[in-house]
Amino acid sequence: MSPFEGGDGIDVWITEACTNIKTFERDELFDLLMTETRVWWAELFEAQSEAIDKLTSIMNEAAKTQDGCLEFGQKGAQRISIRGKRIYAYQLVYWAGNALLPSAQDVVRHKCHNRRCINPSHLTHGSQADNRLDELERRS
Ligand SMILES: [Zn+2]
Repeated sequence: MSPFEGGDGIDVWITEACTNIKTFERDELFDLLMTETRVWWAELFEAQSEAIDKLTSIMNEAAKTQDGCLEFGQKGAQRISIRGKRIYAYQLVYWAGNALLPSAQDVVRHKCHNRRCINPSHLTHGSQADNRLDELERRS
């Protein structure tokens, strides 16, 4: 069940995201799969408060739609600046919320096809090929 069915779903999700970030550890695969991007994300998680503060402010700023999406920003997918990098808000919500490190071919996918949406229960990840299939499905 989506954590956003209840009124305080966002607070519950933020608490879980904080736990995920605070318990993040580089595992034995980290060195094997090391890329600049993965190092950047790992350092973001290890710094803890910056990611947590940003997640909290993004989630609180988002507006809920009738479809249950949480839209952040005025139009299109909104970018944010964090630790010297510009990324999409939904990328921060997905990777930092789950404390997962993306590999080069990993993309965050919107199950709801709404790129403004940052509702964690509408986000999943897959390959760029999956993402193109989503786009074709959305257009058909
Ligand atoms: Zn959505």
